[in-house]
Amino acid sequence: MDLSNRTILITGATDGIGKVLAIKFSKLGSNIILLGRDSLKLDKVYDQLEQSFPSQKHLILEADLSQLNNESAHEIFNAIAGEFTSLDGIIHNAAILGTMTTLEDYELSRWDEVLNVNLRAPFLLTKTLKTMLESSMLPRIIFTSSRVANVGRAFWGAYSVSKFGLKGLAEIFANELETTSPIKVFNFDPGATQTKMRASARPAENPNSLKTPSDLVDCYLWFFSEESSDSKQNYYEYADLSQKVKAR
Ligand code: NDP
Repeated sequence: MDLSNRTILITGATDGIGKVLAIKFSKLGSNIILLGRDSLKLDKVYDQLEQSFPSQKHLILEADLSQLNNESAHEIFNAIAGEFTSLDGIIHNAAILGTMTTLEDYELSRWDEVLNVNLRAPFLLTKTLKTMLESSMLPRIIFTSSRVANVGRAFWGAYSVSKFGLKGLAEIFANELETTSPIKVFNFDPGATQTKMRASARPAENPNSLKTPSDLVDCYLWFFSEESSDSKQNYYEYADLSQKVKAR
């Protein structure tokens, strides 16, 4: 798949799934906007992109999504608009797990941080950057879901609540944009994947029993294909989408 001249913003691009997507998408020709909170980690990923693919343009956006507000969201808009003429996609990938505990014991400050990063920031970034996406030929917004967005399970606390909320947010954006905008909105549950977040949630699990972030790349690429333009479905899970992608 050729992604030349497409510019894609990936939040949480310094680790796990986001980092692998940044590297793979840039290998296919896209300009990558790396958003993360850790400048050293951002620089390392940026260097990896620059060394291998010098003809493309990449941008670092250092931002702590737990602190995002209207002003910093507009700074992000201006930084992107200063470098690129359009934006072709946003992958809302950044998230934090928060604390695995009962709701009764959940610290309010931690609750707010999880909701801010996982739900409030994707809302504000989408709302702020939407106009930039509208000049793209195949504009896409991908939200990242989880199994605990569908069923409330003990101890998953704010993380689960944020993913329930994100499912609603993705559906509302999809419905609102369906008839008024070329932007396609998807919500994707990548399923259990070998990353530091999964290791924190399931410390006793053998990571080698899980798929790696690289196994997800074809699913994410499908969202950016012309084929997905005809999809009436907004929510996808890895198990189903990977079969569909393999069967093509
Ligand atoms: P990781 O913890 O490996 O990576 C999360 C990324 O988000 C990191 O780059 C991290 O930055 C960044 N991030 C966290 N907090 C902030 C913040 N305040 N501001 C900016 N960036 C931040 O997670 P995964 O790769 O596993 O998860 C990616 C997505 O997939 C998440 O939305 C997650 O909910 C979802 N998911 C993952 C599953 C799995 O099994 N791994 C299963 C289902 C869904 P830093 O490097 O600084 O920590």
